[in-house]
Order: sequence, then C-alpha cells, then structure tokens
Amino acid sequence: LYNMVQDLKGNIRVYCRIRPLFRVEAKSCIDFVGEDGSLVVADPLKPQKDGRRVFEFNRVFGPSATQEDVFADTRPLIRSVMDGYNVCIFAYGQTGSGKTHTMCGPSGGANDQLGINYLAINDLFHLSVERKNIMKYDIHVQMVEIYNEQVRDLLTEDSSVSKYPFLILNLALPDASMHRVRSTSDVINLMKFGETNRAVGSTAINNRSSRSHSVLTIHVNAEDVSGNRLRSCLHLVDLAGSERVDKSEVTGEGLKEAQYINKSLSSLGDVIMALAQKNSHIPYRNSKLTLLLQNALGGHAKTLMIAHVSPESDSFGETVSTLKFAQRVSTV
Ligand code: ADP
Ligand code: MG
Repeated sequence: LYNMVQDLKGNIRVYCRIRPLFRVEAKSCIDFVGEDGSLVVADPLKPQKDGRRVFEFNRVFGPSATQEDVFADTRPLIRSVMDGYNVCIFAYGQTGSGKTHTMCGPSGGANDQLGINYLAINDLFHLSVERKNIMKYDIHVQMVEIYNEQVRDLLTEDSSVSKYPFLILNLALPDASMHRVRSTSDVINLMKFGETNRAVGSTAINNRSSRSHSVLTIHVNAEDVSGNRLRSCLHLVDLAGSERVDKSEVTGEGLKEAQYINKSLSSLGDVIMALAQKNSHIPYRNSKLTLLLQNALGGHAKTLMIAHVSPESDSFGETVSTLKFAQRVSTV
C-alpha cells in the first residue's frame, strides 16, 4: 500500500536545499522559504518588485534544516529500495552549494552530521534486520566517478573486502568491482577508500571532485521464505558542479571539462524531462551518466533530485539557473 500511495505522487521528485550563509553579515538573495515547497529569490541589483521570482518544488529546505530533516523526506525512497524498486538520488548545484554536505556530510565528518549516503545505508541494514524472519537480504556496493565521460572504478586495489564472484544480471556498472557489505561500517570504510582514490589525480587548480560525478551504487538482492527474489539498486549521485564557466577565461583542460559537464548535466535533465512527459524516446545514450543509471531512471524506478543553492547575493545568477533547471525537471 505504501508504494501505491507513493506511485500516485509520481516517480520524480525535486527538492531544493539552501545552505547557510557563510558570513552572518552577508546579504541573502533568498527572500522567502515556504512550508509548501515554494521559495522566492530576489535579484540584489533590482528593486524588490522587479527582481523577485517564485519557484516551486516538492520540498524546500531552508538554511537551518538539518541532515535529519532532509533525510526524513528521503527515507520513503530507501524503503522502496528494500521493496524492490530502483531509486536514483542526485545532488545538483554549483560548486560550494552543499551537494557533498548533503550526500556525505561535512569533510572531517562530525558524527551528528552524516549525510544521506550513510543514513540511507544504515536504514537499509536496519530494515534487513527487522525483516530477517521473512526476507534474506544481500547487499553489495560499487563506487565510480565519471570524469570527462570516462568511468573510473573507485573501489579497486582494495583487498580487504571480497569481491562478488559471480555476475549479477542487469548490472548498472558492469565493469566496476562489486563489494559485499554486512554493516554500515563496511560501507563507510569502502567510501573512505573511494574518496581517497578519487583524490588521486586532482590538484589544487584542478579540483577534480567538483569536476566529476561520483556514483555510489547499492545493490540489494532479497529472497523471501518461499524463494521469491527481489533485486533492486539505489544510486547515490554527487554531481559535478553545475556552474557555467566563462568560455573566454577557460582554455584547454578546463574548457574540455566544462563541456563534458555541461553535456552530461543537460542530458540528465533531458532524460528526466522525457520521463516526466512520458515520451516514447528517452535519450539515455547521450551521456555516460544517463547510460549507467538507465535501469534506475524510468519504468517503475523512483528519482529524487535535490537542487542545492547558495544564498549569497553574488551567487544570484547561478542560484537562478540551478532553480530553473530543477523547475524544468519537476514540472510535467
Ligand atoms: P559542493 O559539494 O556543492 O561543492 P560542499 O558540500 O562542499 O559543496 O559545501 C561547501 C561548504 O559549505 C562546505 O564547507 C560545507 O561543509 C558547507 N555547507 C554546505 N551545506 C551546508 C549546510 N547545510 N550546513 C552547514 N554547512 C554547509
Ligand atoms: Mg562536492
């Protein structure tokens, strides 16, 4: 019943999260955050009545929202995964808007600030224990990054966790190593390893983590007492920064990166929109990102995009363009 109620609400949800201002004295371009999912942004350079724009989403989290607040509205999707649905959760927004904070938590990781990745996995394990008399769950993870349309396995060279020895059908990431996990701490260790691996190849100038997409995939295999099997997966995606780069200022590697990011983010938007409009052709093949996530986008799969914005007045342009993108994928 629970999933039926969810299905009636549609399979694509869009939330918006506004991070706090870093300096208390800074001016905010966010004018109003409504309980109903609306928010109003104000152009700092225009008089109030000309410069205001209203956006509406399924939920808006203001600067004071906690990780638990955000997770409380994400949790139903995690339950769906345990019931056999494929789910994709994306963090979208410009660099510095709080994507990694939402997904992983702050760097350094204070324990009360853990992000969706941890809270979701923790929930999956809790549910599997709760249901242990009726279902037997088996959980595996993969972690890759997509940089310049190249996919890189972030969990190789790790001998501490045994790799899944046989093939899982309908695999999202067929070439990436698969790791069996039995507890939240297994996953945390793998994620730490993946993050370290990801840092390789990034320099101060080329802050790779914001120029690549990272995809953490949790595969859930379940079998009930009468031998019926369920198979599903959860993709947790920290997208590359969506900021537009000024073409006149970037050359070479930076320009190439920017073009790849633009292409994959707009492909993602096109796929989600085509799904929302129930088009017969869904353009999955236009980017690695959408190709990899194909089995969890569309059909019975559920998608959540969390659009992140910075409230600083000088981010106004990027904030509006993030909100426009998110609005585009949320309205049918
Ligand atoms: P992104 O991944 O989008 O580039 P980050 O998650 O790294 O952005 O956030 C940039 C900075 O802002 C980090 O120092 C992060 O800890 C902080 N931050 C982001 N969102 C929040 C929030 N909701 N509450 C407190 N600090 C935040
Ligand atoms: Mg980040």
